[in-house]
Amino acid sequence: MKAIVKPKPVDGKDWPIGLQIVDKPEPIIERPNDVIIEVTAGAICGTDVGIYNSKDSLRVQMARTITDPVTVGHEFSGRIVDAGKQARAHLARLVFEKAKTNHGLKKLLRRKTARSLAAESTFLKFLEKQFFSTAEMHVTCGTCYQCLRGEFHVCRNTIIKGVHDDGAWAPYVKVPAENVRLFFQREIPYEIISFMDALGNATHTVMAAPIKGQSVAVLGCGVQGLMAVAVAKWAGARRIYVTDASHQEFSHEKLLARRFALAKLYGADHCFDMAITEERAAFSDTILQETDNTGVDVACEMSGSYRAYEDAARVIRMGGTFSLLGIPSGTMQVDFAKNIIFSGITVHGIIGRRVFQTWNQMEELLKAGLAKQLMKTGFVTHQLPLEQFDQGFAAIRSGDAYKVLLKP
Ligand SMILES: [Zn+2]
Ligand SMILES: [Zn+2]
Repeated sequence: MKAIVKPKPVDGKDWPIGLQIVDKPEPIIERPNDVIIEVTAGAICGTDVGIYNSKDSLRVQMARTITDPVTVGHEFSGRIVDAGKQARAHLARLVFEKAKTNHGLKKLLRRKTARSLAAESTFLKFLEKQFFSTAEMHVTCGTCYQCLRGEFHVCRNTIIKGVHDDGAWAPYVKVPAENVRLFFQREIPYEIISFMDALGNATHTVMAAPIKGQSVAVLGCGVQGLMAVAVAKWAGARRIYVTDASHQEFSHEKLLARRFALAKLYGADHCFDMAITEERAAFSDTILQETDNTGVDVACEMSGSYRAYEDAARVIRMGGTFSLLGIPSGTMQVDFAKNIIFSGITVHGIIGRRVFQTWNQMEELLKAGLAKQLMKTGFVTHQLPLEQFDQGFAAIRSGDAYKVLLKP
């Protein structure tokens, strides 16, 4: 099969820029809990852009790959086509779990048990026909201190499929059954399932603290920022303030016409272009004015920009929450005394998704209307054949794309 891979450096040279398409054998069931999913669509995210560009932080990660060359891609949707014996039992239990809240599915399962379903010769065909799937691509050890406490998102031995091990930008991907998520029929469109990994990051960031009825600042209005706005709104945030900064390649007018316009559709009350002095001042002025000089309950940092940290520090209320998803390059100074200790701020570093708490929260919001909204507003801007991945990355570089899907 054709797979998109990150070629490793040769003869001690630097990691090459870009990705390659190569021929690879199709994955097969090797362990009893293996599941093979036929990929309907993969999606490109910021991490993939870093891999494409051989960004420093990812170069370190990629040096730890356990397959060579590694198939890239950790966001995808697809259909299950094969599963090991243990995996079948697990998937049957998942189907029954799902049926508890799904009447149509419950009807299909009449007079069956999870065990009898798993034993049916047509079980795999049933899965393939009735469900879309995706998977949590952080494969965790299950035995470290954090895993034993149920904190899988911070497993010390995490293998990320699509970074350290073969991912999903290929016709088939193999995942452990425990990581699989199932979606019955058209429960959620496959286009959305394709990037639930990324949406999960935004959800994890926004939901790190209670959000219902709260005021929120979202710093950074890229793909993650936009999703954070939508998630915050659907989760019941009271006021949402958004920042971004225009620059030479992405003008103020373009920022207003595109990202800020979409952020407002998703529920932002005010958007500020921090590259403009007056708007930067208006950001804190507006928040303080509207919150009786208190500040926002929650700030979500989605940009990784130093200035955004400073901006957040100016508007988080005493006792508020600061959730950090954006990845700054290098180190920066933090005034712990003033900005964290004396203000009683809680800081959350956000890595991956809580398994499966974040997935469940996200699924609920998607079904409540978030999925429909993302589809209707054209959040998926590109759907390209897998081979045209370069075009997809170019679209992201231009700043015009939101989610780009690659279809094998
Ligand atoms: Zn991602
Ligand atoms: Zn672990």
